Amino acid sequence: MLIDNHGRPINYLRLAVTDRCNLRCFYCMPEDGLNWLSRKELMSYDEMLRICGLLVNMGIQKIRITGGEPFVRKDIMEFLTALAGLNGLDELTITTNGVLTAPYVAQLKNIGVKSVNLSLDTLDASRFFTITRRDEFSAVMATFYELLKHGIEVKINAVVMDGKNTQDIIPLVELTKDLPVSVRFIEEMPFNGDGEIHETPLSWDHIRILEEIKSAYPSILKIDDPAYSTAYNYHIPGHAGSVGIIAAYSRTFCGTCNRIRITPQGTLKNCLYDDGVLNIKDLIRSGKNDDTIKDYLLNAFNNRVKDGWEAERLVAHTGMHESMAAIGG
Ligand code: SAM
Repeated sequence: MLIDNHGRPINYLRLAVTDRCNLRCFYCMPEDGLNWLSRKELMSYDEMLRICGLLVNMGIQKIRITGGEPFVRKDIMEFLTALAGLNGLDELTITTNGVLTAPYVAQLKNIGVKSVNLSLDTLDASRFFTITRRDEFSAVMATFYELLKHGIEVKINAVVMDGKNTQDIIPLVELTKDLPVSVRFIEEMPFNGDGEIHETPLSWDHIRILEEIKSAYPSILKIDDPAYSTAYNYHIPGHAGSVGIIAAYSRTFCGTCNRIRITPQGTLKNCLYDDGVLNIKDLIRSGKNDDTIKDYLLNAFNNRVKDGWEAERLVAHTGMHESMAAIGG
């Protein structure tokens, strides 16, 4: 098992396979998109498979594929199928915006994907367009129902944004009444990629989100959080699904952080809020062998920051961050 310098197990990798996305969520990236990475700058599938294999061998048990939008990268299903076959990997999951995903759901089920995080900030088609700048609401809903039809666990991720979608909180919670879904509300983070300074303090933090839900559902109950959960989990008596709140900006969960990230260009991040601690792609392309790469990785895991606040202080950010699409959410 991999243990970091703070005694925390590391068993979860979030791998972003592209920075490109087919939505333009205003809280994630500018309307014109980003300066997309060239193919050469991206890790190839072979490179990603090699590094995932090494990490699984070292103790990573769960891999989440994210982006950008994973399904805009060509031949993603072939990559996912190869990854699913890695010896020792317990869980392969995906985070997707659902625009292109519906036709792949049966294949995802076949390769053993049991759970998918679907990003959906509103159940209103016109607000969806305002937030994402794309008219794709019905495609996302098709993916949602396709996942449920195939018995794949669905976690809906909704970023809560003042003045944009707070009227969607209760309708999203209502989805849990009849459907076995987990709806998770995420504090908006300062990763908008447009250089704007984030409002501080956050007006819709995890406490206010819970108060809003309680105003409609006073009987809501706190339930146990799974190990390493970033969400505070709740259940409304009689509902089929559950509700979660992720304090992504307040960062209340760093003490049990079990995750590492690899960006599309192969940068290892020990923390969402750090600037990257190792360039894995460079190690691979300079011909390093597996043992040497493992040594670099172990050294990075032995130098993890305590929490996201320390990471942010170290990189001396000014309150602005790159886009989440360049990091992987
Ligand atoms: N394209 C995929 C998707 O939409 O799920 C995966 C990548 S996306 C960057 C991953 C997650 O990050 C999404 O749930 C998105 O809502 C979230 N995200 C992006 N920018 C964010 C921000 N500024 N604050 C909070 N969450 C954010």
